[in-house]
Amino acid sequence: MGNPFPFSDDNKRYHAYAYALRQRFGGRVARVPLDGGFTCPNRDGAKGTGGCAFCSGRGSGDQIAALPSLRAQYDAGRAKLAAKWPDARYIPYFQAFSGTYAPAARLRALYAEALALPGAVGLAVATRADCVTEEAAALLGGIAARTHLTVELGLQTASDSTARRMNRCETRQAFLEGLYRLHAHGVPAWVHLINGLPGETAEDMRGSARFIAGLPVQGVKIHLLHVLRGTPLAAAYAAGGFETMAREDYVSVVCDQLELLPPGMVIGRLTGDGPAGDLIAPLWSRRKREALNAIDQELARRDSWQGKFCRKIP
Ligand code: SF4
Repeated sequence: MGNPFPFSDDNKRYHAYAYALRQRFGGRVARVPLDGGFTCPNRDGAKGTGGCAFCSGRGSGDQIAALPSLRAQYDAGRAKLAAKWPDARYIPYFQAFSGTYAPAARLRALYAEALALPGAVGLAVATRADCVTEEAAALLGGIAARTHLTVELGLQTASDSTARRMNRCETRQAFLEGLYRLHAHGVPAWVHLINGLPGETAEDMRGSARFIAGLPVQGVKIHLLHVLRGTPLAAAYAAGGFETMAREDYVSVVCDQLELLPPGMVIGRLTGDGPAGDLIAPLWSRRKREALNAIDQELARRDSWQGKFCRKIP
């Protein structure tokens, strides 16, 4: 039997971001991560100072060249990608820290600078929902009305008790408020989830997928928890406080989550992409292609696909 999943032209049984971009732009489009010089309220003292327990000191911006201007970072990022995809167009992506955490005038200037970069066909911004002010949402709504935009909200888990243990300093309620602020301005929102947070069961992880399945969320990135050198989590791991996920368990729970998500929700990522030199565990995650293949094989083995058990009408 062929692949029953409608949003695929490469035999994926989920709505891969690469497919969504090909449909939208008619060719290869790649994101170029940028550091706009932001911080985050969980580091500057507004909410907390230590950061989330899993967060590296560069606020997820570890892949970005440490260069002072957006243009220089962008050129360095493009040069790396051009070797792989010489014909690609690009989406500048404010990845490091919280990309809406600044006064509206500064956000306006940074977003305009990014959108004017050569070859840019849109914009992506990663942030925390509690950093989406009304002004930021209105500004992003104006951008969404004229170009391709995605705003990614770090949720990581729908469980407030896990979030507290991870020192997220953000509640599920605050997440919902930020999400609906974006939604009211017509901004396409994505969500980040992390599987394998200490103390979470597979059912907790499925619960996070069920939670976002019922919300106005256009895309999701599912990450594997990485224990990175220098983070609070690394100390807890060294002390034997928790174990990281085995590959079979991760593959199984990702497939469960895909089955629960609406078929039209774009899947931006199904593994982590942490800085290889700082990775303590799980080391199997370095072999990303193998993990993705195992997910494809497990969906085929189950004769399943994204949305098979989603209760929301797509
Ligand atoms: S909110 Fe993001 S940038 Fe801030 S500490 Fe947590 S993971 Fe790091």
